Order: sequence, then structure tokens, then C-alpha cells
Amino acid sequence: MLDIQKIRNDFPILEQKVYGKPLVYFDNAATSQTPECVVNTIRDGYDRINANVHRGVHFLSQEATEGHENARKRVQQYLHAAHDYEIIFTRGTTESINLVASSFGDAFLKDGDEIILSEMEHHANIVPWQLLQNRKKIILRVVPIDENGELKMDVFRSLFNEKTKLVSLSHISNVLGTVNPIKEIISISHSHDVPVLLDGAQAAPHTRIDVQDLDVDFYVLSAHKMYGPTGIGVLYGKEKWLNVMPPYQGGGEMISHVSFEKTTFNELPYKFEAGTPDYIGTMAFATALDYIESIGIENIAAHEQDLLRYTTGQLMQIDGMRIFGTAHEKSAVISFLVKDIHHYDMGMLLDKLGFATRTGHHCAQPLMQALGVEGVLRASFAVYNTKEEADAFVAAVDRVAKMF
Ligand code: PMP
Repeated sequence: MLDIQKIRNDFPILEQKVYGKPLVYFDNAATSQTPECVVNTIRDGYDRINANVHRGVHFLSQEATEGHENARKRVQQYLHAAHDYEIIFTRGTTESINLVASSFGDAFLKDGDEIILSEMEHHANIVPWQLLQNRKKIILRVVPIDENGELKMDVFRSLFNEKTKLVSLSHISNVLGTVNPIKEIISISHSHDVPVLLDGAQAAPHTRIDVQDLDVDFYVLSAHKMYGPTGIGVLYGKEKWLNVMPPYQGGGEMISHVSFEKTTFNELPYKFEAGTPDYIGTMAFATALDYIESIGIENIAAHEQDLLRYTTGQLMQIDGMRIFGTAHEKSAVISFLVKDIHHYDMGMLLDKLGFATRTGHHCAQPLMQALGVEGVLRASFAVYNTKEEADAFVAAVDRVAKMF
């Protein structure tokens, strides 16, 4: 059993009141809160280490370089990647996908080629491919979802043909919580010789990820959803792909030699890391991963699953409750509407009672269209949330629902 109170003590932000009410933070799928140890790494980084990496011969630069490269090794270990140079630091999931869309797209896609996405994708896994469509006449094939919010796997299977060049899907949906059958997806795709990118933004905080066991080609995530700092993300890519992909951005760090006649590029991972990286952010992310491991990702997931089951059961008692996403395997997000109350009105009133939730389309407008709604209200859990908070939340939703 986790000592949640002890864990909560690591997050000073949770102690505060908003509008005179105790804060209940249920917007973790958007951004998780940051434990003190991560903030301490940031403070210590600026207090003691701050210097540009990879360039200086001086002591601080070496310290910063070592911290940054150790962070890369920490991420490698966390994802069980074969090599540390398969870990590319980015600004987040969005930038990671843009990197692949641009670089893989330039190298391997030609007019008429196809990419498989799904109806439940976040805009971050739609728009970069559409931007690529401005340069190449590629076709996006979209896997629909069924009434539980699960991918229609028979349709997925039927979408492959000799033009299919990439499958790019979310591991876990940020709205429905659906955990997609990624092993099956990867195995089907590879049987057609098609590589797979998984958007792990919602999975990495809740599930153990082993990129070698999955045999996934690209895996992307954001640190700020994993108790880490904002502005840091990861692109894991298999060496065989990263080696043959062209650089994404040009500048310092990513070159081997520059002249006006010809420039040669640095080796992995630096080829994809133009400019000064957020080395203090990467160190703080490594601390966040240590923090997760100190609690145990399985323990975190079990606690969140308890909260999910309990809160779902309680919310279902409310008259007019509609929950979106009833997948077999579901992560700890609950998207819902009550009667015909507008999600924004409900969210605003809950906010005034101290509950931080998310309202709107959740950067998944095509999914909203598939669900036949304009938006939903979403509560999402993290390790520091409690059953008492869930009880208070259910009571507040009930109270607000009765006001309409
Ligand atoms: N994909 C999914 C599934 C997400 O939930 C999010 C964050 N809401 C993103 C991509 C984008 O992540 P970021 O804004 O950190 O780049």
C-alpha cells in the first residue's frame, strides 16, 4: 500500500487553496505536478552547475555535460532502449512527432504513399502529417473507433497495402483512456514491413515501457506529464532509422564540420539536437524518473486504477451521466458529460469549488466529431490523488448537475 499522504508532502502545490477551497487537482493528463526533488534539481542546476554543454573545457561545462548525458542514459534505462544515442531530447511529444514527420517524411515518403493514424489521435499526431501533405501528396488512412472507444482492429488490418509507409498511433488516448493493443499493432505493421510510431504522452506516466520488447520503431513522450519539468520531451528511435534520417533543424551541436561549400553532420543523437539543449531540464527529468521508480510505476498504476474504478462507479450514480470511453483496458482518465449541461459551464463551476479539470475538445477535434459532441469534461488522476478527493469531486459534480 502506498502512503499517499507522504507522497502528497512531496508536492507543495497541492496544499494550497483556490477560491478559499482546498485544491483538488484532477488535470494530470494535461500536466502533472512537480515533486520537490525535481524542483531542487532545477534550483541546484542553476545554483551550482549552469554552463553550456559539450563545448567548454572548463569545470562547470563538464559538469553540465555529464549531467545532461547521464540524463540521456537515465531515459535509455527507463525505456529500456538498446543505446543512449537512440534517445533524442526534444521540447515534448509535439516536437518529437514533428521531427519524425519532417525527417522521416523527407527521407522515405513520396507522392501517393500512405500513413495510418486513428480517429482518437491528439492534434499533435495529426497536424504534423497534414503539414507534410503540403509538401508531398501523401494519404492519411484513419482507423475508426467502436462504441467502447477501442480501435476497430479489423479495419486497421484492412488498411495496409504496398503504399503504407508508417503507422502512427497513440499508445493511450488522452480523452478515452483507451489502452491500445500496441503489441498486436506493431506485430501486424511489421508483418507488412511498416514501421510504427507510438505517441506515448499518456502512457509513459502510467505504464512500464520497454521499447526493445515492444520492438517499436519510434516512441515519443513529454516530461511534464511524468512529474518532470515542462519543455522537455523524448524521441526514442531505433538506430537503424535515426541513422538514415536527415537532420530536422540546423545549427550548432548538430554538425561535424561546417564550410560554405559543404557541411557534414554530427553523429547520433546530436544530429537531431540543434542548438543549446535544456540541460537543466533533462537533469530534472532524470530526477522525475528516479522519483517514479522510487514509488514504482506498477504501484502508481495500481493506485490510479483503484481511483478510476471507484470514481467511475460513483459518477455513474449521477442522473444523466454519460462517460466517454469504456475500453477493456483503460487508463485513469474519465471524460464525461451530464445531461445537456455544457462542459464549460460545469468545468467553471467545479473550478469555483476548487476542482481543476479540463473542458473542451482536448486537442482531439476529430474524436469529438466521432463521439458526436463538441467537447467533454475530463478528470484525470495521478499518484497523489485520493479517494477522499474523488468523493468530494463526485459530490460536487452531483451538486452542480442539480443546479441546472
Ligand atoms: N499526444 C497526446 C496523447 C497528448 O495527451 C498530448 C498532451 N495533451 C500530446 C500528444 C502533446 O504533448 P505536448 O503538448 O507535451 O507536446
